[in-house]
Amino acid sequence: MTFKSTSITFLFSLLIVGASYYFFGISLWWFALPILVFKIFVIYGSSTIQSNFHINAICNSKTSEKQIAITFDDGPNKEHTPKVLSLLKENNTKATFFVIGKNIIGNETLVKQINDDGHTIGNHTFSHSFFIDFKNTKGFKEELNKTSDLVFNIIGKRMKLFRPPYGVTTPHLAKAAKQLNYNIIGWNIRSLDTTNDNEEIIVQRVLQQIKPGAIILFHDTSEKTINVLKQTINFAKQNGFKIVSLQQLLNITNYE
Ligand SMILES: [Zn+2]
Repeated sequence: MTFKSTSITFLFSLLIVGASYYFFGISLWWFALPILVFKIFVIYGSSTIQSNFHINAICNSKTSEKQIAITFDDGPNKEHTPKVLSLLKENNTKATFFVIGKNIIGNETLVKQINDDGHTIGNHTFSHSFFIDFKNTKGFKEELNKTSDLVFNIIGKRMKLFRPPYGVTTPHLAKAAKQLNYNIIGWNIRSLDTTNDNEEIIVQRVLQQIKPGAIILFHDTSEKTINVLKQTINFAKQNGFKIVSLQQLLNITNYE
């Protein structure tokens, strides 16, 4: 199911309803049916990154080996990113941080430390605005380039991984990411670690879904995440899962 195939099916259904109206005099209300179905498909496809509706997002690896990857969105964060980094260091674990450009300003040393510690940095747009999905292709490119420049000025590397904010995709976002040659990275385990759920529920949600090739989505902006991360690392160790970088899990390049 893609945006294109859904649109073609939609137009075809409109044609059939139109012909039935013309030849058999069916009620005009029948037009509401394909419109409604189309709307449902577009809303589902745009808000579900795993659906690959507008763009091909990598949400897991097909490997049967017990390997998983850990990712953190929405940082860098003065309070929580350092705690995440020291926990990862203690456990000799590598992760990927999808940073928001506006959060880099004033936190440049954290970005440097993420890189120095051997983790990967990915693009999560500059503003992460709630209204970002109304931007056109040029607007999305500006969002990506601004953050790319900020990171480049600190670590001297151009990011190639991009995670769309909220996992929402649009045709303009897809076009911008394609033109700038980004790998789109989704997830298949959403921890929901920034919700009101308590740590125990979050831990259970994550651990229950761990399987070979999984990509876990955490946020380095929440106090709860520290303990959840600790338990996830312990679970992985006890159950023979190796936590590897996205590069290793997916066999892709992280930087230009
Ligand atoms: Zn985000």
